[in-house]
Amino acid sequence: MKKTIKDFNLNGKKVIMRVDFNVPMKNGEIVDDNRIRQSLETIRYALENNAKLILLSHLGRIKEEADKEKNNLQPVAIRLEKLLNQKVLFVPKTRGEEVERAIQNMKEKEIILLQNTRYEDLDDKKESKNHPELGEYWASLGDIYINDAFGTAHRAHASNVGIASHLPSGVGFLIEKELKIMKEAIDNPKRPLTIILGGAKVSDKIGVIENLAEKADHLLIGGAMAYTFLKASDFEIGKSLLDEENIPFCKRMLEKYSDKIILPIDSINATEISENAVPRECFINEIKENEIGLDIGHGTIKVFKNYLQDSKTIIWNGPVGYSEIKSFANGTRELLEILKQSDAITIIGGGDTASAAIQLGYEKDLTHISTGGGASLELLEGKELPGISCIDDKNE
Ligand code: AMP
Repeated sequence: MKKTIKDFNLNGKKVIMRVDFNVPMKNGEIVDDNRIRQSLETIRYALENNAKLILLSHLGRIKEEADKEKNNLQPVAIRLEKLLNQKVLFVPKTRGEEVERAIQNMKEKEIILLQNTRYEDLDDKKESKNHPELGEYWASLGDIYINDAFGTAHRAHASNVGIASHLPSGVGFLIEKELKIMKEAIDNPKRPLTIILGGAKVSDKIGVIENLAEKADHLLIGGAMAYTFLKASDFEIGKSLLDEENIPFCKRMLEKYSDKIILPIDSINATEISENAVPRECFINEIKENEIGLDIGHGTIKVFKNYLQDSKTIIWNGPVGYSEIKSFANGTRELLEILKQSDAITIIGGGDTASAAIQLGYEKDLTHISTGGGASLELLEGKELPGISCIDDKNE
């Protein structure tokens, strides 16, 4: 078990907290502040316990000087100020005198947000490659390190692994919650445990399929990925997305887990991927040569529903259709509706499935929507996340 923020006396301490403020931005405006809101509980706890709070986050990618302006964290500081109803001092630097002076002058219960940690990437990718000098420098600014950025926990960066190797460390409430829910669902689930897997490529999910096929009772496969499994079962899939080199892997999985893996029996197709495309539904053995399979059909939804209705835990990663286009979002929406009606523990692994669930209005109807795409995928693969492994254990 990892230490949490509750294991520390924060009174008067300079707490360096890594949060995930990597919010979608358009023309300098925040499009969705969900990630900021998700971090408020840990931030408020630190302030209530008299910490001097120094926040670090990345925003977007910084590959060249021109990337800086659109990834400036200042709008986030303004939004955070509103959400907390408290002054947030934004320091537009990641290091140096201005940063150090601001921290020296801090009083208890005050907050500073430093500039985007990835501004440091212009100098030999210091943040993203975890340059030891940078982690040590940031650590020198504080007394305690708290990591609450689940979205980057699968990466070893200077702002997580780098700082944690120099300071007493713990996780915040968001990471604590993500770990508890995900680990329990995978390692000690209420059964039957059903996994829904979709999305684009088999290659991205090999680790997840291997780990979860073993642990789950049922594995329902949809999305583009299903067509590679169908090809491996000798169906003709027209122009559907095919991950050819993973056909042997799919065959192996289908043989080994023949009783667990459930594939679509019908498909919604079109001859092009566009808003104007005319969808055609057919059985899986009727896909035409010029068609692309873009969603699961109504028969498949019924089959999947049978498994989902009896499940006690459901974990879902990857939309089961091209859900960005309305005509091909039906399968994803219908499955969300089934999860809404279900008494099971329902977990959405982040990324595109999380966006689909939120956009289609199901945010409140699910047990948990993970805040990290890559990080939750790695948890589903059974991997240790470096941004969490680096945190002190409870018994230290
Ligand atoms: P992933 O990031 O692997 O979870 O993939 C998500 C993407 O897969 C989304 O952009 C979906 O639109 C896409 N997707 C889902 N089903 C299909 C499909 N049948 N054909 C093409 N793309 C799909």
